[in-house]
Amino acid sequence: MNENKSLKINCGVCGVFGTEQAAHLIYLALYALQHRGAESAGIISTDGGNFYAHRGMGEVATVFSSPQIFDTLSGNAAIGHNRYSTTGASDPINMQPLFTKYWGGEIAIGHNGNITNYKTLRTKLESSGATFRTESDTELFLHLIARCRKKDLGERLATAFKHIKGAYSLVAMTRDSLIAARDPHGVRPLALGKLEDGFIVASETCAFDIMKAEYIRDVEPGEILIIDKNGPRTAARMATKRSASCIFEFVYFSRPDSKVFGENVDKLRRAMGRRLAWESPAEADFVISVPDSSNTAALGYSEASGIRLELGLIRNHYVGRTFILPDQKIRDIDALIKYNPVKGVISGKNIIVVDDSIVRGTTSRKIVSMLKEAGANKVHYRVSSPPLISPCFYGIDIPTFSELAAHKHDIEEIRRKIGADSLAYLSIDGMLSVSKRKPGEFCTACFSKKYPIPGDFEENVK
Ligand code: AMP
Repeated sequence: MNENKSLKINCGVCGVFGTEQAAHLIYLALYALQHRGAESAGIISTDGGNFYAHRGMGEVATVFSSPQIFDTLSGNAAIGHNRYSTTGASDPINMQPLFTKYWGGEIAIGHNGNITNYKTLRTKLESSGATFRTESDTELFLHLIARCRKKDLGERLATAFKHIKGAYSLVAMTRDSLIAARDPHGVRPLALGKLEDGFIVASETCAFDIMKAEYIRDVEPGEILIIDKNGPRTAARMATKRSASCIFEFVYFSRPDSKVFGENVDKLRRAMGRRLAWESPAEADFVISVPDSSNTAALGYSEASGIRLELGLIRNHYVGRTFILPDQKIRDIDALIKYNPVKGVISGKNIIVVDDSIVRGTTSRKIVSMLKEAGANKVHYRVSSPPLISPCFYGIDIPTFSELAAHKHDIEEIRRKIGADSLAYLSIDGMLSVSKRKPGEFCTACFSKKYPIPGDFEENVK
């Protein structure tokens, strides 16, 4: 089996239209979406004539470090992007939103997802003379839009998008409109909201709350929504295939205070914890979470098992996410500085640890050994998602096959590797049972190796 070393990206996107201080609102939205990507951040605004951009490497607070930046980002419409990629791509050329001028005018674009026929399309475009300015798959949208001769914007976008396979939730902006679109499978989330004097779209509704926007609905799979001075309208619909919303958004990626795919993340994540307690009980003095991403599932586990929840691990909030450091040796150290056990709570106790996922097994191993060193008697590790057996090719950083603990090892081997007294994962059926939607409407590829959308990656999946 080959390893896929393609650029994998987590991202957040947002856009506002018809409102004063548009760029400043986008700045607030990017703060709310920071967990979706911390490698670069950017805003492009327009006053209906000119376009203004500010992009930079790092977190939102670093990139937008002075109020003067907003003096240059004028206009009543703006789009924003937070980006996080994993393969050596800390490169300013890939910062978004992207912008170009073409026969149809100007267009700015920001994208969350992953184009699965990127290599094929790029090679084809290059062989016909196109030159690319970035390594990002998002640039494909610009080339394909520019090549399409349809007069109507909605038709032009729909025709361009027909060539693209994969996952995309995107925001785009012309001089006089904001565009929001989702791929026909609806893999990544994108929601529409109403501001007092305009409209907002964002990957997650936690970006709405910060500016008191009201959630209207999701941008639908395959929908191309255009918002202009007449308000929002569905400009085109691409033929929708089966819906394949990413279940990992509920497991880990989205914030619990968000609504994604029309459902509350908090509600589903708690239900995953409850279901895990029902499927895999254990005897213990208390339940602890791996903060912060497992807090909600741990609450559910505690609720259903009747075993109280304790604060046994403290997270240092001044360290980035474990995955942000690319080198394995550094990652080990990172886990140690990120969490610390509360010895007085842990010592002599039997503990159930609820974690949302085991990827490489680094965090779980460190946590179990930390708890044992702090005097824990028994450590029962419970994971509120099934074993991760395959990489994600649709926009979430789940690494190569060989790095995934559950691709190489069975559950007993992983238990031994992490040093837990027992280890259990939530079943796939159990995970899917928490949503009111039908199980077949989700993408579970990282847990099942069943990829709903084909692409260039398939040669790597045997
Ligand atoms: P690992 O140490 O490699 O097993 O990673 C497991 C931890 O990373 C879990 O506690 C998760 O909360 C977190 N995690 C899971 N998926 C991701 C991801 N795609 N990016 C960053 N962190 C993740």
